Formats: sequence, structure tokens, C-alpha cells
Amino acid sequence: MEIYTKGFSAIKDLKDYVRLSEPTFFHGNQTSTVIPYDRLNEYGEQQGWTSLTLGNLGQLPQECSLDKDNNLIISGPVTWKQAREFCRSKGRNTMTSPTEELAAILSGVATSCTGERCFGYGTLREQLLECTYLDHQGEEQKLLAANDLSDHRLFQNDEGQKLLKRYQCSYQQYREFKNAPFPRLEKETDLMTGTEGQLGVVINGIFKTSKLENVTYIFLALPKWEEDASIHLDVFQKVQGFREKVYSCEFVDENSWSYLSEDLIPRKGKDIVFLEIENIYFEEVYEKILSQITQLDENDIFEVPESRCRQLRMEIPRAIFEVNSKMGVTKKGTDVQVLSKDFAGLLEVYKSMAKGDVAYNLFGHFGDAHLHFNFMPNQFEAASCQKKLEELYKWVFEVKGSPFAEHGIGMLKQKFIQPFYTDTQYEMFSYLKKSMDPNNQFFPQGFMNMRKTQ
Ligand SMILES: Cc1cc2nc3c(=O)[nH]c(=O)nc-3n(C[C@H](O)[C@H](O)[C@H](O)COP(=O)(O)OP(=O)(O)OC[C@H]3O[C@@H](n4cnc5c(N)ncnc54)[C@H](O)[C@@H]3O)c2cc1C
Repeated sequence: MEIYTKGFSAIKDLKDYVRLSEPTFFHGNQTSTVIPYDRLNEYGEQQGWTSLTLGNLGQLPQECSLDKDNNLIISGPVTWKQAREFCRSKGRNTMTSPTEELAAILSGVATSCTGERCFGYGTLREQLLECTYLDHQGEEQKLLAANDLSDHRLFQNDEGQKLLKRYQCSYQQYREFKNAPFPRLEKETDLMTGTEGQLGVVINGIFKTSKLENVTYIFLALPKWEEDASIHLDVFQKVQGFREKVYSCEFVDENSWSYLSEDLIPRKGKDIVFLEIENIYFEEVYEKILSQITQLDENDIFEVPESRCRQLRMEIPRAIFEVNSKMGVTKKGTDVQVLSKDFAGLLEVYKSMAKGDVAYNLFGHFGDAHLHFNFMPNQFEAASCQKKLEELYKWVFEVKGSPFAEHGIGMLKQKFIQPFYTDTQYEMFSYLKKSMDPNNQFFPQGFMNMRKTQ
């Protein structure tokens, strides 16, 4: 299979290229875990592709500024790290903070980015006020979050209107999730949110920011979840009513410490839940949550500086990704979110997956009932892990959970997502592709071109 790469140093070059209607996978900083960037050739050959063209958006000119209302204006491949540093220098902060800070913010629109602060602030979708994308004719099109998608010109005909109603109805069961198995399609900007670049190329966006908060990071050292998850579940319940005072509520299990250097391990032999607490609410949170967890003694509750917390949180998933690549296996990790009522059930399912000889670890967005369980198999163990994952997705389907609430579908999760789609989703994808991408040039290998299998 041939892989071609195209780079663009000016928007005009990108527009000219889009007008050629060449099927292309446009990408940002290539941190997606659902695109097999490090083995595209092998993957493409398995799929029977003869060629793949990569459109690198990483060289486009960048803009990162604040407007008079302190909204963040982004053009080009600005990363989360750059935007956060810029905002902080102006007394503001980004409201989303994905674990991978080197991802591009505009790619985050395409993937419907979420992250640690999602607990307090919701997803990037909720912060996106407007965006501009290049359509299939290389023309700029603006979308506003304030406009309902049902008023958009795409849905003014009878067929479109009825389809959108049916689609939105099918979405209802997933309203509580950060990301459902299919894009939300409620407001205009949703055409670019979570559609993974299959309907156009996002070239700029305007996002809400928050004032720069004063926060404290508190770590709770808990027993290993496989042995006793009762305190974990107690913390989970207690923290739910505090989303405006606690911005993040994250988890790293004891198995994950083996991927960190010794000096970064906060407490050997223990799992950790950590909370990012707004300082003005600290006393209240201490009184109503921390002091109420009677099974923990004072030594199990401690403060950690932000930089150290950020470092350990980022290094673990990166290291795990690298270990899997070295072992020659694609990451066998999960991205499941469930409703609060099913969180204990999810931990039980993960407990049963943990039984056996394959190494594993668990971390993620604890407060949102959204944890990443990762198998660390060698090549011989990979197939059995795959089977266990298939069982897990059956369970997620039964409890009406969201199988991929953060990292999206990309190329690697298409097989697992199929049971979550009905005719309505297939019809909507086909309607959008025909209307917005008539030449099928934007990421033609993506989920919107999947066909129903019996
Ligand atoms: C260690 C680690 C931790 C992570 N943590 C998080 C997390 O906390 N939250 C989270 O949401 N994700 C997380 N991710 C996943 C990943 O970082 C995100 O999906 C991110 O948004 C991808 O950004 P990118 O610039 O690398 O995009 P790429 O990988 O380059 O592209 C991702 C997708 O977006 C599309 N795309 C990219 N740019 C555009 C554009 N301008 N217009 C249209 N389509 C475009 C591509 O076609 C592709 O489908 C993590 C990944 C890693 C490796």
C-alpha cells in the first residue's frame, strides 16, 4: 500500500488542495489512540486499501488570542499546552484539559475532546461558541453554537427534518454521557464536533475560558480496587454534588505506578483518587467529603503540587502506549463511561477482566464513571484480551453505557461500535456524507462510511 503525505503552510494551499477532491485523512498532531499511526501500512493492507493520503495540518499558521469577552480564538494547530500557558498569562484558563497536552485544540473539536476538568466544566463541545470549516469546495463555512441544527439549511427539506428528529430521539438515552456512540447533532457546531473530520476541515474556533482559578490538589490513598472498592464507591457518591467546587476527580490504580519513576509515585501499594478543589470551597469540601470518609486516616489524605500531579497523570498513559507499541500490539484499552448507577457494576466487570495472567492497569476520569482499563499483553496474549473486550462491550450495550466516551471511533473501534448503531444512525451518516462530502474526500475510511452488517 502506498502512503502519500501532503503538508500545508498556508490556508490558501489547503483550500486549493481541497478543491482537487482527493480522498485524504487530514490530521493534527497524531495523538489519537484510535488511529494506528505507527503501523498505518500494515493496517491499510489488512483492510485492502491500495493507498492512503495524509493531509498534515500541523504546519498551518497559528493564532491564539483572547477577544474582549475573554473567549479564546484559535486558528491552526495550537496545542492544549500552548493555549493553557497563553490563557494563564492573561489570568484565564482553558476549561478542558485533556491528559495529552500536545494534541491540537481544533482536532479536539473533531474528536469532541474531553479531559480531567470535564468533571467540573463539561466537554469541549459545551465551550465551543463557533467554528469555521472548509467545505468540499474549499469554501469557508461558519457554524454557531447558538443556532439549532434543525434551522440549518441542510435540514430544511422534509426528509432531512424527519431524519434529524428521529436521530435526536435516538440520542436521548445517551444525554448524560460526555460522548455517546454517535455525534450529538443538536446545534450547528455539532456538524464538526465528534464527526472526526469526515465532513470538512476545521480551520478555526472560538472557545469559552474560565478565570484562572486558585486550586488545591488533594490525593486520597485507597486500598487496591480489586481487593476492596467500597471506599472508592463512597468517594464517588460523595463527590457527585460538588461539580462546581471540584473541577477534576481522577483515579490512578496501584498497578499503574510501575510505569512511573520512583520519585513520582505518591504512595506505594495504594490506589489514588485525586481532587482538584477550588480554594474558596476547600473548607466545605473538606468538611462534607474528605472528613466524612471515616475509613481513611489523616495520612491517607495529602496535598500534591499541581506540576507533579499533572506530570504523573500524563506520564502513565504515555508510558503504557509506548510499552504496548514495543510489544508490537495495539493498545487493548477501554474508554467506557456508564451512568452513576452502573459504576459499581463496571468495577465488577473490570475485576473479572483482571483475573488471569495478563498484566493490566486502571486509571481515568473517576468522578464521571469513566475509567480506562488497559491490558498489557504480549503478542500471544493479545487475542484472549480482545475476546474479553468483546464481552465487555456486550455488557456496556446492555446497560446502555457509552463504549468510547473520550477517544472516539477512528479506525480501530469501528468493529466494536456497530451494535450501537441502528438504521437511524446509518441513514444520518449517509445523509450528511452525501450533502457535505459528495466526493467522499474527507476521511473516507471513517465510521460514517460504515455499512450495516447483518
Ligand atoms: C496519552 C494520551 C492521553 C489522551 N488523553 C485524552 C483526554 O484526556 N481527552 C481526550 O479527549 N483525548 C485524549 N487523548 C486522545 C487524543 O489526544 C485526542 O483525540 C486529541 O483530540 C487528538 O488530537 P490530535 O491533534 O493529535 O489529532 P489527530 O490524532 O491528528 O487527529 C484525530 C482525529 O481528528 C481529525 N482532525 C484532526 N484535526 C482536524 C481538523 N482541523 N479538522 C477536521 N478534522 C480534524 C482527524 O481526521 C482524526 O480523525 C489522549 C491520547 C493520548 C496518547
